[in-house]
Amino acid sequence: MEKRILIVEDEISIAELEKDYLELSGFSVDLEEDGTRGLERALHTDYNLIILDIMLPGTDGFEICKRVREVKNTPILMVTAKKEDIDKIRGLGLGADDYITKPFSPSELVARVKAHLNRYERLTGSEKAANDVIEIRGLKIDKTARRVWVDGTEKQFTTKEFDLLCFLAEHPNRVFTKEELFREIWDMDSIGDIATVTVHIKKIREKIEYNTAKPQYIETIWGVGYRFKV
Ligand code: CA
Repeated sequence: MEKRILIVEDEISIAELEKDYLELSGFSVDLEEDGTRGLERALHTDYNLIILDIMLPGTDGFEICKRVREVKNTPILMVTAKKEDIDKIRGLGLGADDYITKPFSPSELVARVKAHLNRYERLTGSEKAANDVIEIRGLKIDKTARRVWVDGTEKQFTTKEFDLLCFLAEHPNRVFTKEELFREIWDMDSIGDIATVTVHIKKIREKIEYNTAKPQYIETIWGVGYRFKV
């Protein structure tokens, strides 16, 4: 999808130059000359990145940066003509991701924009992966998509098989009795009994274990129950 960038800049020649170069690089660009209107746009529209001048009519760039950062993680690139501003950007802890000093070459601006977009995507992408995917040796469980792979090959699971596998994998090295697992995965009123757990464990093992006689993931603790080994 096309990336959207907001430029808040009151010097029209500079703003137009930035816009042209960014559009040539494939970005969709909105331009705002007034600080207060720029802030409104930044708050109410989803942009992939915001380029902020500091001295602006209406609300200044410092204030815009601060207000946007209170509610959004959008990368912000501050543009300044004054060296004192750089100290202020750093010192105030406004949450700006970077700054660039005037005069700058448009190609430098484009390079910075691309670098920040990539960085932001990497950060948000890796957070997602850490939250939703369990990986243990050759076994990969995507909790969000409810999909399971064994050594890269996807295996089909029923709802209860998936819930049971997921529960055990989320509590590694802990022994659960069949009763505990039954209560956890099946609600109390379910028809069935602890034999249901045994049947489901057997089916899961057939899908994830290389040798069901010597399971490397779900271990039977005789007389007690099961344990997911890590
Ligand atoms: Ca200005």
